[in-house]
Amino acid sequence: MTTPLADRFGRVATDLRVSLTDRCNLRCNYCMPAEGLDWLPTEQTLTDDEIVRLITIGVEHLGIREVRFTGGEPLLRRGLVDIVARTHALGVETSLTTNALGLSRTAGALAAAGLDRVNVSIDSIRAETFAAITRRDRLADVVAGLAAATAAGLGPVKLNAVLLRGMNDDQAAELLRWAVEHGYFLRFIEQMPLDAQHGWSRAEMVTADEIFERLSAEFVLTPHGEPRGSAPAELFEVDGGPATVGIIASVTRPFCGDCDRVRLTADGQVRNCLFAREESDLRGALRSGADDTDIAERWVVAMRGKRAGHGIDDVTFLQPDRPMSAIGG
Ligand code: SAM
Ligand code: SF4
Repeated sequence: MTTPLADRFGRVATDLRVSLTDRCNLRCNYCMPAEGLDWLPTEQTLTDDEIVRLITIGVEHLGIREVRFTGGEPLLRRGLVDIVARTHALGVETSLTTNALGLSRTAGALAAAGLDRVNVSIDSIRAETFAAITRRDRLADVVAGLAAATAAGLGPVKLNAVLLRGMNDDQAAELLRWAVEHGYFLRFIEQMPLDAQHGWSRAEMVTADEIFERLSAEFVLTPHGEPRGSAPAELFEVDGGPATVGIIASVTRPFCGDCDRVRLTADGQVRNCLFAREESDLRGALRSGADDTDIAERWVVAMRGKRAGHGIDDVTFLQPDRPMSAIGG
């Protein structure tokens, strides 16, 4: 029997985001500082078996239907292919959000393990801008990883881009043109207050309206007819289609009312929201011998506390202690 992961506002979580590590080989400046962060000690990080056990509880007891692996950089996790294969065997959809460094080597094995899709983060297709944002000169590896993902059958590949004022906000149309030419589906995400350095500023942020205007200077964007459901992106057809572009207005037009997500951190904490201030410790329960029913009950309780919205615009808003890279974006 399954118990849905329902909250007090009638939302039910069916989409589980699993962070496989808080470490990363890039240093995107809207995510972490140049020197990196104090990474989680190994003993606090869930083992592959512990991750698969929690995912299995989510699927078999709690109605999870989709699992997305993220991080930090999930490709840095040695057991990734095996974790994907064991998750796929549970009969759920699997996907990966990645910076694509090293994907050219692993795309085939991931596809063979049953991975359904990849989302790749790429904020610029100019090598200098890419290096300025990520603090690493690795654009060529990302481009190679994207091609390998398509060749391995992991397409249609989605691209995620964050626009930063004065860095790449003038490159939105260029990025879209490149994505359309290569058959990638691009989505722009508003920058959120989740960076470890607490450098986010509402006034500086490039808004969804601004992104729309910048793209409209070069393309005709028409709203795409399909209902949006719990998908965060507002979809537009590009120059009459079939290509589309997504704009995710996480800050200026939040979609919290339709949220169907729940998150598990690499150290085994359940978070009912990216911006949650509380976590529920499933690792402790797991390691002290709790059975599946007990863990499932803790998870259900954790979801009841989910707040109605992220409240970024409230005067009382407090950025969560964990940065995005340690939550799992
Ligand atoms: N390392 C992988 C990657 O970059 O795709 C997975 C983890 S990363 C935290 C997941 C997504 O979060 C990326 O698309 C990244 O651009 C996005 N992200 C990180 N910090 C963000 C922020 N402050 N605001 C909006 N999106 C952010
Ligand atoms: Fe790493 Fe992804 Fe954060 Fe960039 S956004 S630093 S690739 S975790």
